[in-house]
Amino acid sequence: MNTEIYRFKVGTFECMAVSDGTHTYTPPTFPPPATFLFANAPKERLEQVLSEHNLQPEQWIEWISPYICVVVDTGEHRVLVDTGADGLGPNTGKLLQNLQAGGIAAEDIDTVILTHGHPDHIGGNTDAEGKPAFPNARFVMWKEEWDFWTSEEAERKLDEHVKEVLLKFARKNLPPIQGQLDLVDHEKEIVPGMRAVEASGHTPGHMALAISSEGKQLLYISDAVLHPIHLQQPEWYAAVDFTPEQVVATRRRLLSRAAAENAMVLAFHFPFPGLGHIIQKGDAWEWQPIETEG
Ligand SMILES: [Zn+2]
Repeated sequence: MNTEIYRFKVGTFECMAVSDGTHTYTPPTFPPPATFLFANAPKERLEQVLSEHNLQPEQWIEWISPYICVVVDTGEHRVLVDTGADGLGPNTGKLLQNLQAGGIAAEDIDTVILTHGHPDHIGGNTDAEGKPAFPNARFVMWKEEWDFWTSEEAERKLDEHVKEVLLKFARKNLPPIQGQLDLVDHEKEIVPGMRAVEASGHTPGHMALAISSEGKQLLYISDAVLHPIHLQQPEWYAAVDFTPEQVVATRRRLLSRAAAENAMVLAFHFPFPGLGHIIQKGDAWEWQPIETEG
């Protein structure tokens, strides 16, 4: 299967999952995957769940995560959600070339929605000269998120070991878009058919998106879950989750909604193309990836 672009429809909206590449999370830069992704999981239960997924904690030494952005062509607007992680690692920064392969130039994008301020979601905002990489776009972000990354709050509240790289990306990729910026502070439509959904916890102003056309729904949940196991164990949070208890509440709200509405879901870090459905299982859920050809 092509793991760079994947076309699909939501009602009349023409959508495309677009890969920015993958990044390998491994020591010493990151804790081992099981600790990084499931920071508070009790050891015994963790081992049991991992083995159900054919993973051994000691042998699971790297987590290779896809980075999946999406383009939604509503007919009226051409919207890009998240911009990938140009410059983070050797296999990231492929968004523009993959957009081009899908027939889209950076100039064609009129709206860029940034779900949050982490390097893998804002890293393609600017080009090598530090200018906005999407010159004709309005950039949309949740106000609390913008305020966090552009004030001293981030400096004060971030963990020491991740602070440097997070701030480096924020400082390179946020100030240059200020002239094209539109902040939202409550749930509302960003363009007709695409609605901002409050989803804080992973970061202070993390945002999900409800995309709907002709009765069909796509919920872009970004980093409310990082791994399919988070559906099964929604109370397990990751080492990078900013406010753990809020992550768990947000996750439960989004997953219940997706299951109840039978919405298609796109999760940024899941195996490409990151699309699937959420099946309710008792008081937790299960991931059912869409069938892709080839
Ligand atoms: Zn992410």
